[in-house]
Amino acid sequence: IDQPSNFSSERRFSSGFQAFPARPMPEKCDEMRMCYAVLYSDEDPVRSPAWTSPVEYDAHGNINIAQGTVELQVKAVFDADAAKKGEVFFRTTHGRYRCLNLGNDSQDGVYMQIYELGQQLAYLKTGKFLPAQEWCHIAFSWGNELKLYLNGVLSASLPYSGSSSVGPALIRIGGPRMLVDDLHISKTARAQFHPDSPAVADEETLLLDSLDRCEYRNGRRATIPTKISETAEYGYLTPNGQLGSGRWGSGTAALNGPIPSMIEGYAMLGAKALMFHGLQPTDEACAGLYISQPEAFRKTVAAIHDNGMKALIYINNSISNFDRLWDAYQDDWLITPRGQPFIPPANAPREKCYQACPRSEYIDYFFWRVASIMDEFKVDGVFLDGRMYSSCDNAKHGCGVTDFAGVRRPERNVWDGRMKAWRLYNLVKARNGYCEQHKSSLWDAPTCFFWDGIWEGEQFMGMKVGDRKKLDILPLQAFRMLLTGFPFGMPTRFCSYLYQPFSAIENCTFAFVHGTTWTHTYRINEMQVLAPYWKALEDFGANYHNFIPYWAENSPALQTPDELVKVSAYHKSGSALLLIANFNEEQKEISGKVHINPAALPGKLSAVYDAFSGEEVPFDKDNAIPVRIPSFRQAWYRILLQ
Ligand SMILES: [Zn+2]
Repeated sequence: IDQPSNFSSERRFSSGFQAFPARPMPEKCDEMRMCYAVLYSDEDPVRSPAWTSPVEYDAHGNINIAQGTVELQVKAVFDADAAKKGEVFFRTTHGRYRCLNLGNDSQDGVYMQIYELGQQLAYLKTGKFLPAQEWCHIAFSWGNELKLYLNGVLSASLPYSGSSSVGPALIRIGGPRMLVDDLHISKTARAQFHPDSPAVADEETLLLDSLDRCEYRNGRRATIPTKISETAEYGYLTPNGQLGSGRWGSGTAALNGPIPSMIEGYAMLGAKALMFHGLQPTDEACAGLYISQPEAFRKTVAAIHDNGMKALIYINNSISNFDRLWDAYQDDWLITPRGQPFIPPANAPREKCYQACPRSEYIDYFFWRVASIMDEFKVDGVFLDGRMYSSCDNAKHGCGVTDFAGVRRPERNVWDGRMKAWRLYNLVKARNGYCEQHKSSLWDAPTCFFWDGIWEGEQFMGMKVGDRKKLDILPLQAFRMLLTGFPFGMPTRFCSYLYQPFSAIENCTFAFVHGTTWTHTYRINEMQVLAPYWKALEDFGANYHNFIPYWAENSPALQTPDELVKVSAYHKSGSALLLIANFNEEQKEISGKVHINPAALPGKLSAVYDAFSGEEVPFDKDNAIPVRIPSFRQAWYRILLQ
């Protein structure tokens, strides 16, 4: 819809009307707090640490990969021998498999490394070690050459064009025992440095953070850089991160406490369910669901359980040419015409997955595998991803009809689909499992309603905001209708991908005031954006039954400073959690008063606290709270009512 284009192959659609079941919303659905990124060995804090840096920044707009300079002050806070040991003090990442590291190594001293998709693309070593307990100025520049400077002196160089091959998503500074102060990133390759004076921003500067201020921003402990891109806004402290004394003023401190494993990190941040996405644990993709590394899988599942979360497995109705039953049954089971295969990236281009028809005997094989994996490995439920052609004409399993004119027609039997969904639901529920289905705007009612939860958001995949307004792309009434689940009694998560088209914080602004959550997609730092909101909701005891939406007949606010400032609330006798979201895109920020509606929240305001910092917030005697909220940002308050 966003970008009309011609497909090389025919695409088939069908439409019709169905009666729409609706039911009361359950009180809770903890599994909405899900993470898709869990992998084998994520229980191991050495191989898979949740985080190793105290401070991180969104990289968008803060790195020019063609040419640039990173400067920082670094201090190793262990003894001289230990200081030779390896530790990274600056890192840019794009997912887990693309990194640019600046670190100190026991063999090579201060070094720089570009590592992408299992390959080291560049390595530059100085042979000089960081002195223990002493501040040292490190500069790294790129363009036509990679260059490393220690205290302003060129110490190593290598001909190389540019830096990382794709723009990084995150910038991380400091290590567990490596302090950092005065981070300065420039868009050109500098050669002149002033190692012994505080960094000063100029027109080449993209990011400058003296790390001297720490305040709550967007729910998190944030640093307030002198200069940073509008998208990134702030630096953010990781859960174990803290600031201490820097070279000038404050800087990053050593990490507080042991480094958690990825799985411990997800639990600390409030996740309730982890899902093995992308078919990683299966050697025969999709229907086969045979676990390729049973011991590794058991270990990871056990760690998920030990940390109080559920372990879910990804399933869908495809069957791949790697499946052990492929040769014998492909002709009998596949939907015809076969259409576009799904090609799992890990095995491209050898593996191809085609959709199998639920009306064929494939469905018994599929259900047997789902039940086996739940029984054998103590998996807690399934996550059904959806991609189903609308019709099938494979006569080998009885699909398709010849009409009265003698023309062969494909068909799709929604009632058969309903019975199969019912069977799958019973199979999972007989094992006390959790069932979730991908939907993304298709309320396929007879099948969806056998599930505990739904996720939404792939309809925005690949979209960019461009010149449009965010509310033209996703109007609030559309969000209320399709993305909350309230009209149907079906817990629904908003899972649009990062910057497709909205930022993590914008996704949170959309989601929470509508009574649902955004969930991060594939990176733990996205969950760090969510964690303060989840914690505030949990601390208050928020659930679907004590939610009062802004569109209720008795809305929590009598009056807001702008019609696009929306106020929803969770309410208990004598207190409430107010969620205030500003959707006005015309002005940089909106300030004014939110007047509490006593018909929705009985009593008079007696105290107001910031829901994240816990600090007291001034309020007016006329039952109003003064607010000042930037565009597409939120303010949350815990209020007491007397
Ligand atoms: Zn069929």
